[in-house]
Amino acid sequence: MPELPEVEVVRRGLAAGISGRRVDHVEVLHPRPVRRHLLGSDDFQAQLAGRRFAEPRRRGKYLWLPFDDGDALLAHLGMSGQFRLDVSGTPDAPNTRVRFVFADEGPELRFVDQRMFGGLSLSPGGAELPDEVAHIGRDPFDPLFDLDTAVARLRRKRTGIKRALLDQQLVSGIGNIYADEALWRARVHYARATDTMTRRMAVEVVTAATEVMSEALSEGGTSFDSLYVNVNGSSGYFDRALAVYGREDQPCRRCGTPIRREPFMNRSSYRCPRCQRVPRAAAARF
Ligand SMILES: [Zn+2]
Repeated sequence: MPELPEVEVVRRGLAAGISGRRVDHVEVLHPRPVRRHLLGSDDFQAQLAGRRFAEPRRRGKYLWLPFDDGDALLAHLGMSGQFRLDVSGTPDAPNTRVRFVFADEGPELRFVDQRMFGGLSLSPGGAELPDEVAHIGRDPFDPLFDLDTAVARLRRKRTGIKRALLDQQLVSGIGNIYADEALWRARVHYARATDTMTRRMAVEVVTAATEVMSEALSEGGTSFDSLYVNVNGSSGYFDRALAVYGREDQPCRRCGTPIRREPFMNRSSYRCPRCQRVPRAAAARF
C-alpha cells in the first residue's frame, strides 16, 4: 500500500496535469475499478462527462480529485493503482481500466490497475472533504495538524506505539515502512505501550515520522516525471535511504547490530535489537 509520500507525489503530478481541465467523456474499459459506483459503468461515464477538475487533494494516504461543482472523485490506489497522463491516441499501457478524455484534447488521464483492489468512485459534495475520508485524522503535513493534540491522543490510547502510528484516525499517512523507520530514528521498540511513554518520547516519534516522510517525498519529487504519475505500492526511490525496513540481517546504520525482522499484525516489523530494546512487560503492548 502506498503511504503518504507516494500518494503526495501522485497528487502533485495530478495537480499539474488535470487542474482546471474539463472532461469531455470517460471510457470505463473494465467495470471492476468503478464497482463502488452502484449505478454501474454507464452511469459513471454519464455522471462525469462535462465536469471540470479542481486541484486534487489528499489527507494521509487518501486521495480525491475535486470538481469545481463541489463533488469529487475518490481515488483508491489499492495495491497497484496508478495514474498516467498520455497524449491522446497513444496506445494504452497494459491494464488501463478507465480513460478520461479532455475537452481541450490535451493529454488523457488513464487509470491503470493490474490487481484492481483499487478503484474510482464519485463522492457527491466531497470536494472539500469526502464523507469516506472524514473519520481520518489530519496528517503531519496538514497546515491544521496540531502536534500537541496528536501526541496527547496517542498517549491516551492503551496500545503499542506501532499500532498507534498505523491507526489512521490518530495521525494519518503512516504505514508499515515509515512507522518502522520513525521508531528506529526515535530508538523506540514497536511494542512500547503508548500510555507509558513520556510526552517527549511521543513527540520524538511523531516528529521522526514526519521527517522521514518528508525526506521520502523529496526523493519521490526528484525522480518525478510529469507525464507518468506513478505509485508502485512500495517506497519508491526512497528504498536506498531506508534504515531498517527490508534490511533483515544487515548492519544497523547506527550501531552495526544486525537488523531483526519480526512478525507483526500479519506483516513484519524491522528493528535494531540494540537501539530499540524490548520494553519491560509492564511497558509493552504487542
Ligand atoms: Zn542499532
